[in-house]
Amino acid sequence: MNIEQMNKALEDGRVDVDTKLEFISASEINNLDAGGSIDKSPLYQRPYTKRDGQKGYFGDEWQKSLIVAFLRGKFIQPIHWRLNPKTNKWEIVDGGHRTRTILNFIKGLLKTPNGFTFEWKGESYDLGNKFWSEIQMESPKLANHLLNYNYFFVIKYPNMDDKDARKKFLTLNNLHNMKDAEKRNAYTSDVATLCRTLGAVDFSKHMIFNKYDGGKMKYISLKSIGRETDAFVTSLVYLLSEGSSWTEGGNRVWNELYSVDESLTDDGKSKFKLNSVISKEAKLLIQHLNDMVIDNAGRKGYGKQYWGAHRMLKYVVFLKWIFSKYDVNSLTFNYKKFVDSFDKAVADIKIKHKAYQRYEIINNKISIVSGTESTDTDALEYHHTKVFSGGTRIDDYEFILKHVELNFDLSKFGITKGTVRENFEESDVWDTWAEQDFKCKKCENDITRSDVENDHIIPVKVDGETSKSNLQLLCKDCNRNKSAGMDTEDLLTILQKKGGTLTPEQIRKIGEALAV
Ligand SMILES: [Zn+2]
Repeated sequence: MNIEQMNKALEDGRVDVDTKLEFISASEINNLDAGGSIDKSPLYQRPYTKRDGQKGYFGDEWQKSLIVAFLRGKFIQPIHWRLNPKTNKWEIVDGGHRTRTILNFIKGLLKTPNGFTFEWKGESYDLGNKFWSEIQMESPKLANHLLNYNYFFVIKYPNMDDKDARKKFLTLNNLHNMKDAEKRNAYTSDVATLCRTLGAVDFSKHMIFNKYDGGKMKYISLKSIGRETDAFVTSLVYLLSEGSSWTEGGNRVWNELYSVDESLTDDGKSKFKLNSVISKEAKLLIQHLNDMVIDNAGRKGYGKQYWGAHRMLKYVVFLKWIFSKYDVNSLTFNYKKFVDSFDKAVADIKIKHKAYQRYEIINNKISIVSGTESTDTDALEYHHTKVFSGGTRIDDYEFILKHVELNFDLSKFGITKGTVRENFEESDVWDTWAEQDFKCKKCENDITRSDVENDHIIPVKVDGETSKSNLQLLCKDCNRNKSAGMDTEDLLTILQKKGGTLTPEQIRKIGEALAV
C-alpha cells in the first residue's frame, strides 16, 4: 500500500469535515516548509530552545533518538495542524519540536547518533554520526527511500479559529503538566501579544530574554523553557495596569488578567494594545532593565544568579518611581553604580519585615503605617535578603523600595541629569580640530573654533570614554542631528582611530550604541 492509498482509506472513512487525517512524507513536509506553507512556531507552540545549527552542536539525545525512530519508520506521536485563516498557513498546534527536529536534520543542522546502522534490501548501511547530505551522497537510493517512505501522521483542522486552537493546544498539552505561563501563552489577546513581544525567548528583542545557551538563559536566572520570561513580563504588565491597587502577584491574578483581556480585545477595548500607554511604559522599563543586566554582566556578584524574577521586578518598580519624578529622556544611567548603590541601600536595612506591614517615608524616616496592630511577637519576620529576592506582595516591595528611596539621590546612584558634556582636554580638542583639517567630521564644512562641538563617538551612556580616541568635532547642525546614538560613519571613525586595539567589551558597547 502506498501513501496515496493509505490517505484515500483515511479519507473515505471520515465523516467529520473539521478534522482530516493524513500521512505526509518527509520529502513532502520538507517541500511544504521550503515553500513557506507551514508555520512551525505559532503562538501555541513552546519556544524551540534547541541549539540546532550552532557551532559544534549536532543534536541532543532526544533529538537523535527521534531522528532514528523516524528513519526506522517507527510510530511517532501525531502532529496537529490547523489552517490559520489569517495567514493561510498550516500552523503547528502540537508537534513543533518533532517537526523542527526532523526538518533541521534534513536541512543538515543535526546528525544521526554514533553506531546507527540500517538494514535495507539485504544490505547493512552504517549511518552513524552522519549529516543527511552525507547519507544522500553515499547511498542515494536509500536516502530517497527514507525520505519518501517515512511519514508524519498529521491531524489537520481546516476550520479552526484562534480560540478553538487554544483549547486544542491546552487539551493536548495538559497531558504533560503545562505551566500557567504556557497556558496563558495560548491566548491571542492583546495582553498575551504584548507579553510575548517583549518577553518571549523566541520573540523578544531584548538580550536578557532572547540569549540562551545550552537551553539555559545566558544573562538571567529564569529558565528558557516553561515561558518563564513571558511570565516575568506578565508580572510587570500586571503591576503597571493595576497601579496603586495591586497588592499581590501570582498566577491567580495573572490568569485572571488574561482571561478578562480576551473579551476586551474582541471588543477593541483592551488597554494592552502594542502602542498603548502601558505597553510603552513596559517597553521602556524593560529596555532599562536589559541595559542594567547587560552592563553588569561579568561583574562579580552580579552574574545570572543575581538576576532572578523577584529582584528584577523590584528594580523595575524602582525605575518606574524614578521616571515618575524625572523626565526619563534627560537621564543617563551608569548602571554599575546604580546597582551598587541600590544593593548597598538594601544591605543597610537593619529592621526586619513583618508580613503585611506597610511603610511610608515620614520626616525622612521609614515609618510603619499599618500592620502594626499585631503585637504578636511570633509573627513571621523576614530579613531583607528574603524579601529582595522573593516576595510578591506590595508590602514586600514597600519594605525594600522605601528604604532605597530614602537613600536615593541621582548622582549617588550613577544617574546624570541633562545632556552630558564631560570636558575633553582643551589640547585634545585643538589637535583633533587640526587633524580634521578644521572641518566638521560629518558634513565636512569648515568650522571655526567657537563653532566646534565636542562629540563622544561612542556615547557616554554606553560608557564611551572622554578621551581623544573617542572625540570627534562636529558643527552644531550635525551634532544636533546625531543626538545620543551612533551611526555607521561613527563606527568607521572609531575603527580608524582605534582599529585593532578594541577589546571585546568595547566592541559589544559599540554594537549596543549602534542599536540605540
Ligand atoms: Zn557638520
